Amino acid sequence: MKVLVLNSGSSSIKFRLFNMKNEQVMSRGTVDRIGIDNSFLEIENFRGEEYKIEIEIPDHTTGIEMVKDALIDKKMGVLDRFDQINAIGHRVVHGGEKFADSTLIDEEVVQQIIEVSELAPLHNPHNLKGIRICEEISPQKPQVAVFDTAFHQTMPQKAYMYALPYHYYQKYGIRRYGFHGISHKYVTQKAAEIMGRPIEELKLISCHLGNGASVAAVKNGKSIETSMGWTPLEGLVMGTRCGDLDPAIIPFIMEKEDITIEEMKNIMNKESGLLGISGLSSDSRDIRKAAREGHHRAQIALDLFNYQVQKYIGAYLFIMGGLDAIIFTAGIGENASDIRAAILEGVEFLGLKVDQQANQTRQKIAEITTTDSTTKAFIIPTNEELVIARDTVRIVEKCKNAGVI
Ligand code: ADP
Repeated sequence: MKVLVLNSGSSSIKFRLFNMKNEQVMSRGTVDRIGIDNSFLEIENFRGEEYKIEIEIPDHTTGIEMVKDALIDKKMGVLDRFDQINAIGHRVVHGGEKFADSTLIDEEVVQQIIEVSELAPLHNPHNLKGIRICEEISPQKPQVAVFDTAFHQTMPQKAYMYALPYHYYQKYGIRRYGFHGISHKYVTQKAAEIMGRPIEELKLISCHLGNGASVAAVKNGKSIETSMGWTPLEGLVMGTRCGDLDPAIIPFIMEKEDITIEEMKNIMNKESGLLGISGLSSDSRDIRKAAREGHHRAQIALDLFNYQVQKYIGAYLFIMGGLDAIIFTAGIGENASDIRAAILEGVEFLGLKVDQQANQTRQKIAEITTTDSTTKAFIIPTNEELVIARDTVRIVEKCKNAGVI
């Protein structure tokens, strides 16, 4: 089965074509800067050839048509015909409370995704665009939606409720949803595989540390708590997002500075986090370099980032009643050995000791604790596209067996 995975954002579409017989990536790439100047398509195939086409890409329809043409192109392509693709898997950021699993897309599902779009206005409408365009260019092809929130739907009520008047939950669905679910699911399953133990008996903490960052407590294969909340703003210190705050700060700043709700949202989402504290950059590489060179505010930013991760790990190991392994993934988690070391410092009492040499590994699976550690830590590069492709196969086969398609 060949599966095309699409991640449609506001100005970019990332794609990956899998041959699911052996889970080989046949082709991958990005359409970027859609609707802006200098737009381009970048594509790489399994033969290792890379191409970049710089051309005006005014909208998502043109972008997806370009992907389609590139995949069947004589030179760049890997297929003779587009209909050799059996199914398309879409990343959809928010599934609200409606979706606890990936699902075959039909009109009802589209309407439900539209209904929850209010909860992710920056993402869901673009994800939907990708779905609609694929329906148009390939109406017969099964399409599957894979949600970033679905993995966290197993959280108990005590973990997902906020202590606001209950009717806001009933009226607006204000509760914790959690994000990065596709990634947390992948790396925890992989950790169980590496440990050679069934995930149903493991207590794992997954740290997805990228520009956006979240931690999840995964007990017996199920997410029971995560740091992102109603939106991806809650929780850890991130590249430009503030994470946890005393909510009273928000009206205080708005009043003092005489700023609008939109401006305040912008400050919390785009001007805070590592960037806001350091005044330098949202990129952890710049922050770490500046901190090494003695930049005081870069050091504060870094300390806050690491400390916040530690606090969540501490809380999660307590609510799980123990811990078998901590997993680091995404841009920072897979690369920044100093951040990993700082987070794991001083927890030998847990039976967790960092193997300094193994911790130098980057972007590869590695056990970074000493062999005598009873609580393990791993680097596991995330592979969200593969989870989407696997889920697409699973759902399409389930629907075929049930005679739905
Ligand atoms: P996003 O949430 O946008 O997908 P990523 O997972 O790509 O983010 O993570 C971006 C972060 O990862 C940045 O802070 C960046 O500094 C860090 N990062 C990415 N690559 C490296 C690298 N090779 N070395 C150190 N840090 C890196």
